Amino acid sequence: MSKSEPVGTVAGGEIKFAADRMLGRLAKWLRVLGCDVIYGHHLSGYGLIRAARAEARLILTRDRHLKQKQPPPFIFIHSDHYGDQLQQVIRECGLKPSGQLFSRCLECNAVLQTRNKETVQKLVPPYVYASQQSFSWCPVCQRIYWPATHHEKMLAALRKIAIL
Ligand SMILES: [Zn+2]
Repeated sequence: MSKSEPVGTVAGGEIKFAADRMLGRLAKWLRVLGCDVIYGHHLSGYGLIRAARAEARLILTRDRHLKQKQPPPFIFIHSDHYGDQLQQVIRECGLKPSGQLFSRCLECNAVLQTRNKETVQKLVPPYVYASQQSFSWCPVCQRIYWPATHHEKMLAALRKIAIL
């Protein structure tokens, strides 16, 4: 895809991504922003192309040779640094970074659900239960998330690279 084409219209609404296996850090940070991103070690070359086609996903790749394989729409990521990569995707896709922060599981990409505090008592360490008020839960991999310090660190990192 050339830079002048309107990437944001690819999926007819919210853009879904398929990140190649060289872009794990970018995939995680896009999930922090709430983006739907598949990522895994099987996602390169034709595997990446197949997966993107199956779910109408926009490919994010560092692979210079991918375009010879007649892929669906893709963005070639220029930088090796996740901050620059994230900025490139936000810019080219017209994403609004602050909209759905921390709404998606960073491990498996599922949309998180909020959990009442009482229902997580046996699932989190006592000090976490005592100090935190809001929890969210991944219905796929069962992870429990709470704001605490890691949210703050991630927000600080996003501010540092001028995303927020
Ligand atoms: Zn999960």
